[in-house]
Amino acid sequence: MKTTGFDGTIKMKTIRRIAAALAVLTVFAALSVSGCMAKKADAKSRIIVLDPGHDALHTGCRYHGATEEELALKIAKYCKNALEREGFTAYLTREKADCIDALPDTTVEGLRRCLEARVDYAVSKNAAVMVSLHLNADEQHGSSGAMVMVPNASYDRMVYLKGRNLARSILSELEALGIQNQGLVERESTEGYQNPDGSTADYYKIIRDGKAAGLPVVIVEHAFLDSRSDYEAFLNTEEKLRALGEADARGIMAYFK
Ligand SMILES: [Zn+2]
Repeated sequence: MKTTGFDGTIKMKTIRRIAAALAVLTVFAALSVSGCMAKKADAKSRIIVLDPGHDALHTGCRYHGATEEELALKIAKYCKNALEREGFTAYLTREKADCIDALPDTTVEGLRRCLEARVDYAVSKNAAVMVSLHLNADEQHGSSGAMVMVPNASYDRMVYLKGRNLARSILSELEALGIQNQGLVERESTEGYQNPDGSTADYYKIIRDGKAAGLPVVIVEHAFLDSRSDYEAFLNTEEKLRALGEADARGIMAYFK
């Protein structure tokens, strides 16, 4: 997912570079509909929903002959296996290339439904957290490293705090693999979306919808797919994708301790 935003942990130069990367998938991220209303997830449940970003219809970035949606699914499956080996319960929002929505289409409305269905699925599974798995890209092809989009501080402070803790835990494990840590990213809606208390809602739809349901959702941008150095160091073999998924799992498990 292409994105921008900061919480003070990202250097301004990096922010400017990354800001240039936003165009294509802004609509994927920012689609704005009021969140699903469902029962709150049990924070103690050790149930995790992993969300492989994009799908065959709502595609992500593609470089070096690889596609974001395919690599994200592989990373998610490795992560799920690693979590289950340690006794956690993990679900994927999609196991195949298809969109989770029952009536997938490529319209903006179809994308909205697809994103909404991912959070609805997590809530239906009583997930404690939802982790959306992505790879990044930069239109200027000058960025590298990992970052995690997190809920902002508005409306639900517990979701905010849990999201930050989860994100930091995952980033720490990715950094241990040698990936540059680009920090946490918070972003507020630029389209006027508000929380029920009138505060400015989150920019990313799945984070916004998650917060409305009391569910911490984070978006992990593992590395830049368009960066040759990131690609060759972390993305171009099955073993490297496994390492990413297992690092995610270690970070998630550490969050629950
Ligand atoms: Zn993406």
